[in-house]
Amino acid sequence: MPDAMAAARRLLQRHFGYPDFRPAQARVIQSVLAGHDTLAILPTGGGKSICFQIPALVFGGLTVVVSPLIALMQDQVAAARARGMSAAGMHSALDATEREAIWASLRAGSLRLLYVSPERLTTLSLELAAAGIRPALLAVDEAHCVTEWGHDFRPSYRTLGRSRYRVGRPPCVALTGSATPEVRSDIATVLRFRPGRFHTHLGSFDRPNLWFGVVAVDGEGDRLRALLDLLAGDDQMVIVYAPTRGLTEAIARALVRAGHRAAPYHAGLTKSRRASALQDFLEDRVDVMVATCAFGLGIDKPDVRLVVHWTLPATPEAYYQEAGRAGRDGGFARCVLLWRRGDAGLHRRQLDVTFPPRRVLERLWRDPKAVAAGNVRESAERLRHELKPESGPVNWKPTDDRRGKAERRIVAMERYAGDRSCRRKMLLEYFGEHLERCAGCDRCRGDRRSPPLDPAVRARLAALRRELGGRAGPWGGSLLEPDVLRCLAEQPPATAGALAAVPGVGPTLAARVGGVILRALGSEPPAVASRQSAPLRGALERWRDGVSAAMGVPAYQVLSDAALDALAAGEVRDRSSLARLPGVGPRTLAKFGDALLRLVTEHGSNPNDR
Ligand SMILES: [Zn+2]
Repeated sequence: MPDAMAAARRLLQRHFGYPDFRPAQARVIQSVLAGHDTLAILPTGGGKSICFQIPALVFGGLTVVVSPLIALMQDQVAAARARGMSAAGMHSALDATEREAIWASLRAGSLRLLYVSPERLTTLSLELAAAGIRPALLAVDEAHCVTEWGHDFRPSYRTLGRSRYRVGRPPCVALTGSATPEVRSDIATVLRFRPGRFHTHLGSFDRPNLWFGVVAVDGEGDRLRALLDLLAGDDQMVIVYAPTRGLTEAIARALVRAGHRAAPYHAGLTKSRRASALQDFLEDRVDVMVATCAFGLGIDKPDVRLVVHWTLPATPEAYYQEAGRAGRDGGFARCVLLWRRGDAGLHRRQLDVTFPPRRVLERLWRDPKAVAAGNVRESAERLRHELKPESGPVNWKPTDDRRGKAERRIVAMERYAGDRSCRRKMLLEYFGEHLERCAGCDRCRGDRRSPPLDPAVRARLAALRRELGGRAGPWGGSLLEPDVLRCLAEQPPATAGALAAVPGVGPTLAARVGGVILRALGSEPPAVASRQSAPLRGALERWRDGVSAAMGVPAYQVLSDAALDALAAGEVRDRSSLARLPGVGPRTLAKFGDALLRLVTEHGSNPNDR
């Protein structure tokens, strides 16, 4: 174990640039390395992926990562690759060639991290078992999705335990940013953790830079007035969460009429409209994003200063997670809920759809043609599958329990909005954490603001985000954590060496995208340039930009900066020297080898001749 931890620290340094783990990470990683099933509850921004990526590297072999959204998966895969880890995502957007390439690396045992959706894991687990591939670790990200409530529930999450046994029952680490004691035990049951034999690690949920408040409104019309009042402050980047698509559009229109730069965002928009709305928000052309709750998972916009909920969310989990998208850069941010007594009615009606009353169910089971709304019918079908009424008297207890839990969540949200006590204390106690002192809410006051960022720092931050994020996936996930970006913008390193030494960057990432980072910060790229052929470098950069634009991927994924430097310096003359460059794998070689060698012949002059 001490050896494994030492190896883990070395890998952390190489791939992430941190000298050591944060305390909560260290406990989780220690537990995973010891082979225990582990439930890790770490708040957003707590460095969750490190908790399975580093063990994956220590174990060798394959780690399967269950991730809820393709977009999120693509970001995570791109970030892992940029940090020098062998990673891929298995999802419906792949073509046959890409799928075959993944299988080739699976059979060769060279793939460390394979990201899959829970739906895909069902078939993948059969395929892996058939191929005799036994993962060393199963990681379940956003593990609270296993619980049957809220907007993000997906039935496939309930079968993760079965898939896990199919692939030889590897140790499992479940990660979530938000889980009550109930949800924790649900996660453990679904993933088939052995009772009393698994380890739970809880990081602190308190985010002192967030301020919590509730604005009571009298009627529906009053919500817009309350929102406009909130926006009249100096808050810059704002997310407004609204319950329906129609409402997001209506609110955005009203905000635009009132002079705000606002845009709606929901699943019903065309792909290109969604992408451009998100891009506008990420690049500060839109100040207020009005979105449905389901669309925000994985959003990485660090300088959101205000998150407003148009109406009461169904669960404290959902509320804390969505509100928690504010202030990811560590600066002061407000989380405000607009609330009217009676807001919970909608959620209670929804509950009657998810868990229809017994008599409705029994009638539908007896007579499938009986009149019922489509979604009630779907629930009846799902519950018939689960409760198997055809094989004798039904045991209602499990469903009654689940419904009861969902009801208690709604009550907890009502209390959060309506009670007189400290908001933060109520939220954190709901998550099982005791709070000594509130850092700020409308019940305790304490509204403190950090001084605005220096304009030069702000400009460097914007340049960094533009260069590093937003292109890898529709959510604009950045390769670097918000606090690392901020540190780079505040104290820009002058050289590649200084950059590699910055905690959170590290040598691998610096070698791959160091040039991009240093250029964005206004520092000069690594000084190998003196030996380089300027026409060749120019030609290589133009070629790389063209391919990157055509493929819709960041330039460094086409060809790493280090490889480009070496090519421009005339270090490559043939295929075999090209194959030795950092980041040039068999696929790059097969796809671009000829083109690169042609550029070298056409534009390169031997630097020794000069
Ligand atoms: Zn308070």
